[in-house]
Amino acid sequence: MALVNMKEMLYHAYHNGYAVGAFDLVSLDFLEGIIDAAERCHAPVILSLAESHFEYFDIELVMPAVVAAAKRATIPVAIHLDHGESIESAVQAINLGCNGIMLDSSQQALTDNIKTTRAVVDMAHACGVPVEGELGYVPGVEGEDAERHPGEVSYTTVTEAKDYVTQTEVDFLAVSIGTVHGRMQGKPKLDFIRLQEINDALAIPLVIHGGTGLSDDQFQQLIGCGVSKINYYTSLADKAGLQIRDNANTNPHLGYTGLTTGIRNAISVEVERCIRLWGSANRAEELLSQCAPWMPVEHLIIYNVDGITEQQANTMMQQGREILSTIPGVLEVVTGHAVQDDASYRYTWLIRFCHPAVIESYRTHPEHVAFADTLFRPVAGERISIDYQTS
Ligand SMILES: [Zn+2]
Repeated sequence: MALVNMKEMLYHAYHNGYAVGAFDLVSLDFLEGIIDAAERCHAPVILSLAESHFEYFDIELVMPAVVAAAKRATIPVAIHLDHGESIESAVQAINLGCNGIMLDSSQQALTDNIKTTRAVVDMAHACGVPVEGELGYVPGVEGEDAERHPGEVSYTTVTEAKDYVTQTEVDFLAVSIGTVHGRMQGKPKLDFIRLQEINDALAIPLVIHGGTGLSDDQFQQLIGCGVSKINYYTSLADKAGLQIRDNANTNPHLGYTGLTTGIRNAISVEVERCIRLWGSANRAEELLSQCAPWMPVEHLIIYNVDGITEQQANTMMQQGREILSTIPGVLEVVTGHAVQDDASYRYTWLIRFCHPAVIESYRTHPEHVAFADTLFRPVAGERISIDYQTS
């Protein structure tokens, strides 16, 4: 289990002068290519899922694969929702296994951006999950995804950044200092003086979106000014596209698996180049020794019912599964019946929380309180419960 707390991961990077790559994935080829590269380099890595890409895959089907890859990895991994569009999508991402959230309300006016971000921070922190906010605006110019970021660049200002971070309590800040989403046109000009001033004022890990097309020197300078997470996607999509075109040119009769052969390797080579350039290679061991593993906590109840039929008990459990699984931080709700007829207790609930913080936020969540007070506790007087850390 090499899933780790993303806040601890990025503070390690921030204090040790390197940046962790957050690579957006859109298929298993991307997932495997990113993990392979990070394993080769003994580097921490962030598996990133952008909400704008959810039209290309079913997030509910892809997330179990992403979580399995993270658990199987020997290097520290965090799973991040990139450009989350609403509090609902942030809750969904956390409940599917993301342990970092980026909320993109950067196109809103500052006061609205603060309000929206604050609500997501309150929800996520009650789940133990850190949040990345964005201030200023990073537009798209050309290349895959650029059209998803219309409009003109708006630079992050130091004063607004201070206000925003103080009022929202975001853990990391994505800044706009001259990068663009998608491909650059010409040589990008980055405002390093502004970035250094933001870093001096905030002293929290900073994030750059639009990493494709920057020079090696520019990356070094960014990291020197407090950038600890670099979002990277367009170049990976370009490498994958190039591989498909090469395959097609070599043999025009190829089918799907023939056309997609080599994509994983092409992505892996580019991810490795980034990891080595950004200084995160060979950091895995030290980071793992300092970081808390990201392990779920489980809430188990065994109980008997009184005054209701077996069928009513089943209905109550079905309602419980539906209601409780939507509470932030709840990864899974499992109900069960005793197999043996003479068991001392007939029924069970197993509720899996993403983090120990959820024990308290779940207990006081209005949906849980309403369900427990009206449907469960009145009929389940005889019960035992335990919250335990999984190992
Ligand atoms: Zn972005």
